Amino acid sequence: MRIERARFSHTPRKRFGQNFLQDPIIIEKIISHIHLKNTDRVIEVGPGLGALTKPLLDSVDHLDVIEIDRDLATHLKETFHSPKLTIHQQDALCFDLDSFNKQHPSPKKFRLIGNLPYNISTPLMFHFLKFSTLIEDMHFMLQKEVVARMAAAPHQKDYGRLSIMSQYHCKIIPLFIVDNSAFYPKPKVQSTFVRLIPHQTISFPTSNLALFQAITRTAFNQRRKTLANALKPHLSAQDFIILNINPTLRPEALPIVDFIRITNFINQRSTDPIEHKHS
Ligand code: SAM
Repeated sequence: MRIERARFSHTPRKRFGQNFLQDPIIIEKIISHIHLKNTDRVIEVGPGLGALTKPLLDSVDHLDVIEIDRDLATHLKETFHSPKLTIHQQDALCFDLDSFNKQHPSPKKFRLIGNLPYNISTPLMFHFLKFSTLIEDMHFMLQKEVVARMAAAPHQKDYGRLSIMSQYHCKIIPLFIVDNSAFYPKPKVQSTFVRLIPHQTISFPTSNLALFQAITRTAFNQRRKTLANALKPHLSAQDFIILNINPTLRPEALPIVDFIRITNFINQRSTDPIEHKHS
């Protein structure tokens, strides 16, 4: 099916996760929840046909957008031809916020906004979190289940790796649920509009982020097992006593801080000059 706009017709591309917002009430609700100031330094990820681009352009002095689809980037350029708009026709997963910031130095942090392509929404979020010190906040439309997993607390059924990795980096504030009828074509899933605020300082940081990711992955790959069984390759019974963590718990019962303590313990042991390997 094609979308007709004055002298422009576009067939939504599944591979780019193109589900365009078409409900003016939802668009207005999104904009009102972002509380924009005209001096804000906004980047829109995946502007598509410009449903959010237009009200964003009306609200800020300058807007940068990143769009992978060449046809849509051209369409945006022709539709808005505004000196206030800079279009980056590229893959947002490769967008280097740090070098962009160096080219356009400003004391202001970025505000990222987007109705993200669902097929790559989680990698996109983690890509931008690599630049968290440059980001004030992110407002994204995501699949409802993904936001539920991001925001879940221990003991909740949705609590898992995504909750831990997301909450380690930022505060997650789900704002409202959006019915799939607000999009064209209609996605199979419901959506949630969410605010993510990167922590400016992480109160209890891990000393090894890659190991932290590996430990949480190992633990939740076997979420029905006890911690003792799931983390057997890494921790002995004695280690659990030292850490003061109950080895009979399931991974879903463990708060983030304990996953960080486990990671830092293992990391410390592997870097000790006298290595205390567990047997
Ligand atoms: N913002 C528009 C709206 O709300 O109607 C479009 C949203 S649509 C869900 C996702 C948009 O992201 C599409 O325009 C798609 O072409 C674009 N996109 C997909 N993958 C991308 C990527 N890797 N980098 C930048 N844009 C991408």
